[in-house]
Amino acid sequence: MEGAFDMTDTPERHLLISARSFGRNDPRHLDVLKNDGFVIHEYREGENADLDEVRELLPRIDAWVVSTFPVDVETLSRCTDMKVIVKHGVGVDNINVPEATRRGIPVLTAPGSNHIPVADLAMTHLLSFTRRIIAAHQSVQQGRWERFLGSGVHGKTLGIIGVGRIGRAIAERARGFGIHCIGYDPYQDADFFTEAGVTRITELQDLLGRSDFVSINIPLTDETRGLISDRTIDLMQPHALIINTSRGSVVDEAAICRALEKKRIGGYATDVFETEPPGNSPLLAFDTVQCSPHIASYTEDSMRSLGECVIEGITAVFSGERPEHILNPEVLTVSESTR
Ligand code: NAD
Repeated sequence: MEGAFDMTDTPERHLLISARSFGRNDPRHLDVLKNDGFVIHEYREGENADLDEVRELLPRIDAWVVSTFPVDVETLSRCTDMKVIVKHGVGVDNINVPEATRRGIPVLTAPGSNHIPVADLAMTHLLSFTRRIIAAHQSVQQGRWERFLGSGVHGKTLGIIGVGRIGRAIAERARGFGIHCIGYDPYQDADFFTEAGVTRITELQDLLGRSDFVSINIPLTDETRGLISDRTIDLMQPHALIINTSRGSVVDEAAICRALEKKRIGGYATDVFETEPPGNSPLLAFDTVQCSPHIASYTEDSMRSLGECVIEGITAVFSGERPEHILNPEVLTVSESTR
């Protein structure tokens, strides 16, 4: 049997849950793990998570379900007994995967469990922005009866940066609205673009110049941080709407503010911010900004499948099996005695 750890003799296993949503919508997810002998410690990010307490607890923890908590070198140095870290989501920009690998800790993720709701939310932002739904709703609520001239989407061009699971699902939806989809993704080949029904653009600048709407669907990495900047915004059409459902820091928010002030772009619709919550970010002062509080994947269906994926991963690791969605499979060949 392949696997780094044999936990069959361990009487008690400690599971830390810092992810805000895991086990909340479907308590059966926690029951499964309790029945498997896990003692559960809940320190929910953004709620009761005292970072110092979490750090104190880490040396006793065997498994960790995490969302955005910074799993950096310092944090990992405390994970002396950790058998697995599971991301409750997809983007692992908060986890130092090379350092976890160096320490022999498997890092799991949940690809494919949330691309549909994220694509739905990107389309919701696109349609609601172009039809000015938020302003119209507020106006009616305040007793007025005004008309809000919208802009159409049919026949327009959507530029998708990052044609992965989410980018592709957005294209599938956008085509239904008669939108022409073009995409930039240097890591996907021509056949992939053909299958996705997206016109392949090999230079980012070409995509930016041609798009009425730009959807950002890339992971946050050293390469993508600040990809949308003064320089790249200058290449866009003045009416362009940028839709960001990836990570706040892929965009330079100060550059967005400058561009909105000068009307260099038409708008910014975002689910994510450089700092979350955004506090009194200057972005919030613009009526050409439309935002949501990082809820793109937060639907009942997605939470259910994400939870199931997390449980499958933990169960696999503690049964000595190879977890399906492991980012660093090389650790499975490291025996526990060498850690
Ligand atoms: P994915 O891995 O399926 O797709 C990402 C795509 O980006 C890949 O095709 C990759 O080749 C491409 N890419 C990487 N670097 C690029 C670059 N420099 N330029 C162009 N393309 C590049 O991932 P996904 O499931 O589509 O998710 C994408 C991102 O969305 C995640 O990494 C995560 O940060 C974010 N996300 C946000 C939420 C939310 O709640 N707002 C939810 C899920 C995912």
